[in-house]
Amino acid sequence: MNVIEVQNLRKEYGTTVAVDNISFNVEQGEIFCIVGPNGAGKSTTVESIMGLRRPDGGTIRVLGMDPQKEEQNLRQRIGIQLQQAALPERLKVWEALNLYSAFYNKTVPWEKLLDDWGLAEKRNSNFKNLSGGQKQRLFIALALLNDPELVFLDELTTGLDPQARRATWDAVRAIRDQGKTVVLVTHFMDEAEELADRIAIIDQGNIVALDTPQTLVQNLHADMRVRFTTSNGYDPQLLRQVSGVTDVEQRGKQVIVQGNGALLAHVATALAEHNITPTDLRVEQANLEDVFLALTGRSIRN
Ligand code: ADP
Repeated sequence: MNVIEVQNLRKEYGTTVAVDNISFNVEQGEIFCIVGPNGAGKSTTVESIMGLRRPDGGTIRVLGMDPQKEEQNLRQRIGIQLQQAALPERLKVWEALNLYSAFYNKTVPWEKLLDDWGLAEKRNSNFKNLSGGQKQRLFIALALLNDPELVFLDELTTGLDPQARRATWDAVRAIRDQGKTVVLVTHFMDEAEELADRIAIIDQGNIVALDTPQTLVQNLHADMRVRFTTSNGYDPQLLRQVSGVTDVEQRGKQVIVQGNGALLAHVATALAEHNITPTDLRVEQANLEDVFLALTGRSIRN
């Protein structure tokens, strides 16, 4: 069942085409990631779906509703993550939850959300005194106050340290595991790869690819890389003849072997046969950053 249906969405701001022509469906119970560089049109797409922006073209259905015509009804059934600036610094955690409860016809008891999201000890803390991770958990709790069927999360882990990021990822999976549908907007490819059931990669107002992370990477048919360092003398010609190897590059003491199939096994065997001892031996698979590069010719980080 489709929770969201977007067909031929278009949005311009003056002469800027923010969204050119975007179509996709989001299925019930999945984590659907919208990824792309800054300015790609992600926020415009998602805010159009939430009824916050009026599209110039196309049709959108969310939980069977037209977001432009039924924004109030829709608001009761979806969860929206607030932006940082939305909460006054001195507002206490419990006050924020209590305040936002008043906006909905139906809410879950916020005391339970405090427990669920590890905020019980912080209930009397001012918003400004929370850590980055605690703030994000509060935003998630606020987005879940109305027990929504569909939750929108936008740039959730920007500015978090690696540990808080991982904890936040677990939180997003927990939302999906409650049977809710999650739409996650991010410019972090690793986050999309980690969390998404399906990913739409957006660039310059269009979807350039849409699939599961595994299929997107497999479709690249990209070589894998084996890297190692060696201090004994070694002849690069040796590895070029090994089965599956397509390229060998030497950078100082580091050797980078590209290829496919059982590359690691073949390389390791060849090195052992010639008494070469590799240190720091690593295998690298293609990832979503490689997918973006292959599709657009640019790195997502620029
Ligand atoms: P993303 O979320 O992927 O960073 P946005 O949807 O915010 O992308 O922006 C897409 C394009 O539209 C960008 O070029 C941005 O500068 C422009 N844009 C976004 N919002 C507005 C606005 N309110 N007025 C004018 N231009 C905008």
